[in-house]
Amino acid sequence: MTKPEGLPDHIQHYIGGELVDSVSGETFDVLDPTTNEPYITCAAGDKADVDKAVAAARKAFDEGPWPRMLPRERATYLYKIADEVTKMHERLAARESFDSGLPIRQASGQAKRAAENFRFFADLIVAQIDDAFKMPGRQINYVNRKPKGVAGLITPWNTPFMQESWKLGPALASGCTVVLKPAEFTPLSAGLWVEVMENAGIPEGVFNIVHGMGETAGDALVKHEDVNLISFTGEAATGRVIFGNCAPTMKSMSMELGGKSPAIVFADCDFEAALDSTLFGVFSLNGERCTASSRILVERPIYDKFVEAYAERAKKVKVGEPSNPDTEIAALVHPSHYEKVMDYIEIGKSEARLVAGGKRPEHLPVGNYVEATVFADVAKDARIFQEEIFGPVVAITPFDTEEEAIELANAVEYGLAAYVWTSNITRAHRVSHEIEAGMVWINSHNVRDLRTPFGGVKASGLGQEGGYRSLEFYSIQQAIHVCLGDVHTTRFGASGYADNDLGLGGPGA
Ligand code: NAD
Repeated sequence: MTKPEGLPDHIQHYIGGELVDSVSGETFDVLDPTTNEPYITCAAGDKADVDKAVAAARKAFDEGPWPRMLPRERATYLYKIADEVTKMHERLAARESFDSGLPIRQASGQAKRAAENFRFFADLIVAQIDDAFKMPGRQINYVNRKPKGVAGLITPWNTPFMQESWKLGPALASGCTVVLKPAEFTPLSAGLWVEVMENAGIPEGVFNIVHGMGETAGDALVKHEDVNLISFTGEAATGRVIFGNCAPTMKSMSMELGGKSPAIVFADCDFEAALDSTLFGVFSLNGERCTASSRILVERPIYDKFVEAYAERAKKVKVGEPSNPDTEIAALVHPSHYEKVMDYIEIGKSEARLVAGGKRPEHLPVGNYVEATVFADVAKDARIFQEEIFGPVVAITPFDTEEEAIELANAVEYGLAAYVWTSNITRAHRVSHEIEAGMVWINSHNVRDLRTPFGGVKASGLGQEGGYRSLEFYSIQQAIHVCLGDVHTTRFGASGYADNDLGLGGPGA
């Protein structure tokens, strides 16, 4: 594919306000997903580079102005970041689409959303109030909020810039300094943060990037003694490894992991709306979407009609070059991911009924292209029902009763999102409450207000972010207790216990 204008030949780390190569001099190739040819090299960081970046972030935290600024002042910088991100809207979309294989139209909303993350958290810190508890005449207790320290941010390759902004926004707003380790498949757009942060005047060392493999650069960040928290988004299997590796240094962790989210379609739903949403839900962003409705559970009376209509639409989904504005599904991010998705399609052919797609489109002989693929009659124990494929592949399964729908929805290890389609409002709520998922959308596709909780249950994650919850994760809430009257202390070594010495100030104290 034609390279967007102005691409660098090489991507470097950003440490302590400087662009640098790896201490070892090592690099890795980044591939164009439409040809799988290397198009750029990237510095491959390891422990030595992480040590440098963490030292810079630590210095900025311990000695620099960032954690000490008043919320209003930090918010002003966050607004500048948002403005810088907005300005590069077109450049970002072109790079993101080129590097990750996202259709250009779907990449073009990313800058707006990323900028919004900074504006949103800027507003929150200015408006934030902290708790104070009063015991009249005796004590006042208040919360002294402090940033947690150096934040290690590890992000995936799907909509990478936006995912990075989800972590950078609240981390920086809280006053943390950060080391970002972007996904190795898609380092291109992360390079734009350097320009954003410099133009916004973010003090040196507050923001650092180390590129490289998860097992080396990511691992060193997770195990580093001077990193206070890890915010991770990626696969559940990686999350499990990181969870273990955080234990020796007792880091705070936030984990946004994989999903196999169900869409439950009842016979009384708005059929066309459910059809549109479930198609978009799994085929947008190339199906490389954590909240994809990759399992569709359909009530028996409309099952055949739904499968037929769904397959017909899926056959017409346009697979094409990422830069073509008509493209609906473009190239999967990397040949290894393409192989994984194709393997699942072959597994699916032996487990269920293929009703659409199932192969590379004939007009695209090179690159990581795959047709919108639909399997029907998928059994609960099928691998394509249970495992996250993270591509444009959907499993459709019939159900007969509400209980069975809930049982099927919950029959996987994941619990990220769910979608319920019905015109019966009582049932919509009842079913939503029974689903083991962090987020449920009723008669809606995936639109999220930034104030709402975001996160999964079971193998889909640990902790919830969104709104003030994100700020909680990046802050320490220190309780300060102040005595307002005479101090009543039991006088050890003096005259022994007196009745009124045992009260320490009030209820619950
Ligand atoms: P991944 O787990 O392979 O990699 C994610 C990041 O972790 C990368 O930066 C990688 O280099 C790093 N990493 C890998 N091994 C590591 C290790 N041992 N120590 C430290 N870092 C390590 O995930 P991916 O393939 O990049 O992303 C796709 C996955 O992310 C899917 O499972 C998807 O569902 C999930 N995801 C979840 C959400 C959510 O919010 N829940 C959002 C987007 C993506």
